[in-house]
Parts: sequence; structure tokens; C-alpha cells
Amino acid sequence: MYLTYIPSMIQRRFGQYLWRVDTEEKAVYLTFDDGPTPQITDWVLDVLNAYEAKATFFMVGDQVRKHPETAHRVIDEGHTVGNHTRTHLNGKKTPTYQYLRDFAECQQILREYTGHRPKFFRPPYGRITKAQAEPILKRGLEIVMMDIITGDFDASRSEAKVSKVALTYAKPGAIILFHDSEKAWPRLEKALPKVMESLADRGYEFRALGEPVMAGVE
Ligand SMILES: [Zn+2]
Repeated sequence: MYLTYIPSMIQRRFGQYLWRVDTEEKAVYLTFDDGPTPQITDWVLDVLNAYEAKATFFMVGDQVRKHPETAHRVIDEGHTVGNHTRTHLNGKKTPTYQYLRDFAECQQILREYTGHRPKFFRPPYGRITKAQAEPILKRGLEIVMMDIITGDFDASRSEAKVSKVALTYAKPGAIILFHDSEKAWPRLEKALPKVMESLADRGYEFRALGEPVMAGVE
């Protein structure tokens, strides 16, 4: 079981994490986890380009090592890259020292490939303990959760439901979770273009985390 929309009560309770971007502007933040995955990530980039959209990719370190050319394309096209651990660990099932080592290894890999230090971290499965989060926050990273879970990874969910979830809960500043993975592909392929088309029709822009919210403002 997982929630589709994260209630504001939970968002406030874990206020040290980023759940949505505080803006009144019509912009949403699409995020893609678990890549880079050749062909699938490339396809996502093509769809984003068609809408002049920017997005955030939370990459798994080992995937970056396996598919450096795909990671480079994400970076070259101006999207934001975040840390999603080296081996996709579940924080609640992993000792803190091991979790932090895996985090640091991913940070190192991304630094090598992007040329700069990633500023955003998303814990796999949304699972992280306070003891794991604190050193990461102290290193100056933002821990990014999401307010809309489309469920694209869920084989029991229809593509129509995935789109509907995104479109029902979208609002200014929403952080929407998708996956550029093999597992999500059967639903992503139809849902992503549909969601982007409908949101663009409603006047939404698509932004990457860390982009200035207003032109001229850092
Ligand atoms: Zn993940």
C-alpha cells in the first residue's frame, strides 16, 4: 500500500524534507527516479524537449556507472540531477553507516559525471531514518520527497489511473513522482505525454528543482 497524495499533515510533521515548492506560479516539478535507463530516459528527454520542459532526475549511482552516455545526455540538456543512493537502499532496513556510505558513493559518482556536487537527495522508497537524514542535511543537501505519487511503478495500476492521479492533484509547486525505469515503462509511455499535454493546456510550466522561481531572482 502507498499513498497517492501525501496529506499536508504528514508534510508538516516531516517539515525538514521538501515535499512541494512554495510558489503560486503555475509550475510543477516532474521528477524521475531510478535511472538512467538507456532508451527510456532518452524517450523521457524527447518528451520533455517537446514541451521545453525541465525536470529532475534522481539517479542511482550504479546505473550512472553502467550508462554514462545516458547520464551525460540528461546533464547536457540542462536538467537537475539528484542523488538516489548508489544501490537503491531502503533506509529503514539498512544500518546508518552503510546507508551513509552508499549515499556518499553516489554523491562521488555524480560529482565525477556532472562536474558539480548534487544538492538534492531522494531516499529510495521514501524511507529514511532521522539518524540517516541528519548528516545529509548537515552536508547542505535538501532531502526531496514528493506530494504526488503517480504509481507508475505499480503493475496493478492502469495507465489511465496513473494519469488521473497526476492530473487530479496537480497544483502550483507540486513535486510529481515518475520513474524512468523498465518497471514503470508500460504505464509511463502513455501517461507522461498525456499528463504533460493536459497540464500545458491548463497553463502549467515544467521546472527542475533548483531553477530560479522567477526570472532574475537567484
Ligand atoms: Zn527509487
